[in-house]
Amino acid sequence: MKCALDIEARDVEELFINIDPIQAGGRLTPDAMKSAIAYGDGYSVCDHCLSPFRLDYIKKPPIAQFHADLAEWLNMDEVRVVPGARRGFQAIASTYLEKGDPALLTSLAHYTEFIAIEEAGGVAREIPMDADHHITPDAAAAKIEEAEREFKRRPSLLFIDHVDYQYGNIHDAKGIARVAHQYDIPVLLNGAYSVGIMEVDGKQLGVDFVVGSGHKSMAAPAPSGLVATTSEHAERVFRTTRSRGDVTGRMFGIKEVEMMGCTLMGVTIIGMMASFPHVRERVKHWEREVAHSQTVVDALLSIEGTRVLSDYPRRHTLTRIDTRGSFDRVAQSHKKRGYFLSTDLKKRGIVGVIPGSTKVWKFNTYGLSKGQIRHLADAFVDIAQEYGIPVG
Ligand SMILES: *Cc1c(COP(=O)(O)O)cnc(C)c1O
Repeated sequence: MKCALDIEARDVEELFINIDPIQAGGRLTPDAMKSAIAYGDGYSVCDHCLSPFRLDYIKKPPIAQFHADLAEWLNMDEVRVVPGARRGFQAIASTYLEKGDPALLTSLAHYTEFIAIEEAGGVAREIPMDADHHITPDAAAAKIEEAEREFKRRPSLLFIDHVDYQYGNIHDAKGIARVAHQYDIPVLLNGAYSVGIMEVDGKQLGVDFVVGSGHKSMAAPAPSGLVATTSEHAERVFRTTRSRGDVTGRMFGIKEVEMMGCTLMGVTIIGMMASFPHVRERVKHWEREVAHSQTVVDALLSIEGTRVLSDYPRRHTLTRIDTRGSFDRVAQSHKKRGYFLSTDLKKRGIVGVIPGSTKVWKFNTYGLSKGQIRHLADAFVDIAQEYGIPVG
């Protein structure tokens, strides 16, 4: 079935259990689907945009209220919506970094953090992880000192991934923020894998900025996300334009420079808003999601030769697993090579594991029902048994 031209209808979420690491938290709610259809047209949320003409002031639909609700929910003072977490990083990096300024991120940081620093003219330096794949406050302090020696000035910004995308480990953002503040370095919490699936309290963590991804973790259409900050930083980050046309003398009111005036103008903001009540509710059930993740990890660990590379017991739904001693052994002699695993999973209605990977790979159980979790756990064990891998 085609949507149009050669664009096939996408039915992955209807027909399969999808454990793709990046897709789990972004699946739309039915409310977001409905609202997206109604607001599909370009500048659809601008019907009732009145003076002073800015997205976050629109009352109908209640976009202004949504901004206030987001700030309260994250326990931060000001929020703006942005086209993806990366655009949040960009706004902060562009505000705080001058050419040649060092900025810290971590050895588990996402590439978009590097790019945000690069684009602002900064120089990225990584805080190393420890043997357990954790970023510690001590490592942050050491790297701050090291950067200060190298650059003859302190880093202007520090990025910490609340949950990293490689291991799905939760890092001590609070401890790291405390250390960074001793050096007067503002801290950006990358909540791409936390905001919208776990409870996040910016003030409790003591961070200066919270960045979230709508399409990764808030059941929202892409590209969407948010950047939140405290009243201390809001004026600087959300500074308004001072441009004036030299011929026309035009001024542009309260349009914010880092936001390019307005950001999400249709399907994205409406989808985020429609999902928000569900998102606010679902973060309260995080423990259930973690227990589900644990069930699947334990099933995998019962397969001889399998190791989990993420924290164990699990504290998140994104997990990095090492099956070099189990499924990869099968791949060595299977006529489909490493593709056997994704093929056999698909036969059982499961997708989202990168085809061909049987060595080190990741999966995300977020949002699956209890029955789906059972099926997924059984499917891995079943496949192992089919190929004669011992199961404990
Ligand atoms: C996915 C991801 C991002 C990018 O998020 P976007 O909303 O797509 O810009 C950034 N950081 C981490 C850790 C991620 O996992």
